Amino acid sequence: MSKHKVRKRFGQNFLTDDKVIERIVYTIAPKFDDNLLEIGPGKGAITLPLLEYVKQLNVIEIDKDLIAMLNGLNKNNLIVHQGDALKFDLNILPMPLRVVGNLPYNISSPLLFHLLENRDKIVDMTFMLQKEVVKRIVAEHGSKTYGRLSVMMQAFFEVELIFIVPPESFNPAPKVDSAIVYLKPLAKSKVSNIKLFEKIVKVAFSQRRKILKNCLKSLLLQRQTTIDLSQRAEMLKIEDFIVLANEYEVLTDTK
Ligand code: SAM
Repeated sequence: MSKHKVRKRFGQNFLTDDKVIERIVYTIAPKFDDNLLEIGPGKGAITLPLLEYVKQLNVIEIDKDLIAMLNGLNKNNLIVHQGDALKFDLNILPMPLRVVGNLPYNISSPLLFHLLENRDKIVDMTFMLQKEVVKRIVAEHGSKTYGRLSVMMQAFFEVELIFIVPPESFNPAPKVDSAIVYLKPLAKSKVSNIKLFEKIVKVAFSQRRKILKNCLKSLLLQRQTTIDLSQRAEMLKIEDFIVLANEYEVLTDTK
């Protein structure tokens, strides 16, 4: 398998550090009956140790050469799906899912949004991502890294940065640090309409330097909300965004 040609377009950085692999598996803490789904198994760095624990492991991989290699392992508890994780229909899998993976960094944001839409089928997710992306996911209001991704993820998931992984743990080595993040869907999100919530959050952060009154003027005015719009988006807590979006929803209903 050492002959496999690395495909940059698929964000391929293979984990080679046994200590890191062990720590990831420890973080996942797989149990025999878990319905695990691994996104981007690659050459099986995490897949092989996981197979030791679970009754069945579903994986989705886009690279045909790697699929042939995974099928060649002849592991009867490994189910390999070929395709694009962004388009994959999770409904064909046993539920509820625990999703894991050292994700291709080039598609990490759209993938997180795809999984957000499917959160009702998910128990939890443990991912390796670029450290900068993980920092954005877990950022608190008032910080520079707090933005659309922080609000969208924290409104629906409990989020935690677990540990940082240096470039030397991969082959080929990426240019940046990576990190493991744990995401668990909140039992009950207070967001009443996800589409409107997404819209408000996107527009609010579209011009970070402007105060909200200016960013949101085509959607709602100060007198139509209890949230102080003289602030910048980064000052608003997750709960404030939820109030704002829910008040906006009432407005759109009465229009
Ligand atoms: N899990 C392996 C490891 O840790 O060594 C590989 C991780 S590598 C960062 C990302 C993997 O995702 C590669 O195997 C790549 O081919 C696969 N991949 C890239 N884009 C994908 C997509 N859209 N759907 C499914 N798999 C994808």
